[in-house]
Amino acid sequence: MVIELVTTGTELMLGNVLNTHQQWLCAQLTRAGWTVARQVSVADTAAEIAGAAREALSRADLVITTGGLGPTSDDLTRDSIARLLGKPLRQDARVLEHIRGFFAARSRPMPESTKLQALVPEGAKVLPNPRGTAPGLAIEVKPNPLRRGGASSWLIMLPGPPRELRPLFTDSVLPLLAEVFPPPAHHSSVTLRATGVGESLVQEKIERALRALTAAGLEIGYCSRPGQVDIRLSARGPNAANLVPQAETITRARLDKDIYASGDEELESVVVRLLTERKQTLALAESCTGGCIAHRITNVPGASLVLLAGLVTYSNDAKLSLLGVRPETLAAHGAVSEAVAREMAEGARARIGADYALAATGIAGPAGGSPAKPVGTVFIALASGRGTVALRQMNPLDRESFKQLTSQQALDLLRREILGYHGP
Ligand code: ATP
Ligand code: MG
Repeated sequence: MVIELVTTGTELMLGNVLNTHQQWLCAQLTRAGWTVARQVSVADTAAEIAGAAREALSRADLVITTGGLGPTSDDLTRDSIARLLGKPLRQDARVLEHIRGFFAARSRPMPESTKLQALVPEGAKVLPNPRGTAPGLAIEVKPNPLRRGGASSWLIMLPGPPRELRPLFTDSVLPLLAEVFPPPAHHSSVTLRATGVGESLVQEKIERALRALTAAGLEIGYCSRPGQVDIRLSARGPNAANLVPQAETITRARLDKDIYASGDEELESVVVRLLTERKQTLALAESCTGGCIAHRITNVPGASLVLLAGLVTYSNDAKLSLLGVRPETLAAHGAVSEAVAREMAEGARARIGADYALAATGIAGPAGGSPAKPVGTVFIALASGRGTVALRQMNPLDRESFKQLTSQQALDLLRREILGYHGP
């Protein structure tokens, strides 16, 4: 089955908005067992939208468009596609009632222009949008005059705002696809997440061991981010349910302690889970990460059970007064040093009274490097009841990636310590 996406929006072409629909929709369709063949983004003009839809309909069994269903003058998708397909637009009483109710529930007057959103191309299915005013619209193009041989296609229009599109897709589009398309060929996949090893090393470690399975149809995909490699093992067909678990066992054995999660679990969630299970607590003393570790930990629901405090001690004075780093240590080794990282972690642990304390101090750059400590140098320390461990890392990246990678290394140091792996 051929699926194509058409994401519309001049803001996407200008680079004002990141096109998250293409990623999110592809991920959802893949999870359901489908594969997207092509995706294209176009500006909000009738000619561009109709042109992209015409091309996609000449090839695809299913075309999904996003955006441009609103009431403003740049919202042209419904109109352009109805015209392309020669379907007159009719006002739908139920949709109009929903729009009225939407404004009434918010005690807001209903602008006349929103009535446009109650227009439905003849024969289209209305996919309700409880979070907004414009419903999704699904049209069976049967026969499809744009396609060679005239086979039929479906075209589904979804609203642009992600908070409307996502529930609408899950609640209405997936059930519709299950009804109108044959079930996807049996598909199985698992994603394993590794840290502390680069993408090429991961590949080196597993690929040979998986060769017999790849010959039998296993597919391996890698996706790497700062401090993280996702390994996706997937297969289709009758053998899929066997191949993927076998591949997972082999991959776990080869990468062992470097694997911290499966699926889309983040390292911070793993750490919060491990600490919660053990009823243990955490303190943070951050310099170069500027609170990034605290930010990631507090993104996890339930973080309050484990995180006691996080200090961003950016200046030397703050390291001295808030963490009890000794002036001699600072003078002898400098703020970016293993000795200071250790004292930061130990000071935070003692003063905050946590089971574990993580500290990070480094040179994010672009200035401040030296031959002995070039830009990117970082020291990470972890204090616990078992003593203090420290790591030196080299992360010569832009400041944001530097923080992300350093926080990943710090969280992983903690994960390995909690699990008794002793050091990185
Ligand atoms: P509205 O009724 O809000 O006008 P719409 O269906 O007309 O909805 P758009 O006007 O295209 O949709 O976009 C609405 C909002 O959704 C904008 O904030 C836009 O930036 C965002 N948006 C649109 N397309 C995408 C996309 N592909 N990825 C992420 N955000 C998007
Ligand atoms: Mg709009």
